[in-house]
Amino acid sequence: MEEEKKKPKAKPKPKPKPKPEQKNEAQLQFEQVLRNNQKVLRFVQRIQSTLLNPGIPQEMLDKSANVLQPDTFAEIVEERSTSSLCGWPCCVNPIEQRPGEKYRISWKDHR
Ligand SMILES: [Zn+2]
Repeated sequence: MEEEKKKPKAKPKPKPKPKPEQKNEAQLQFEQVLRNNQKVLRFVQRIQSTLLNPGIPQEMLDKSANVLQPDTFAEIVEERSTSSLCGWPCCVNPIEQRPGEKYRISWKDHR
């Protein structure tokens, strides 16, 4: 047994430098994902600003709820409330700001 006579480690082959215009599959996929993310982001922003309007149809709200994160929805409620609009997107009623209340939504009225 001559342990010492192991094969010398093969030299790593020098990696061919990728040409800038040549992207591998992973890079292309990654860029695709980024592009899609941007699309989704813009889409969400558009929904978000739409839901700031009074009297959103329930159907639209239901569909939006599938897309929006709870955080985003909370932002909508808050933003509506800062313009003295009921936080519930389907609602057209103004709200009275109460002292110490950041925003409010009358859940009882809307469930
Ligand atoms: Zn309301």
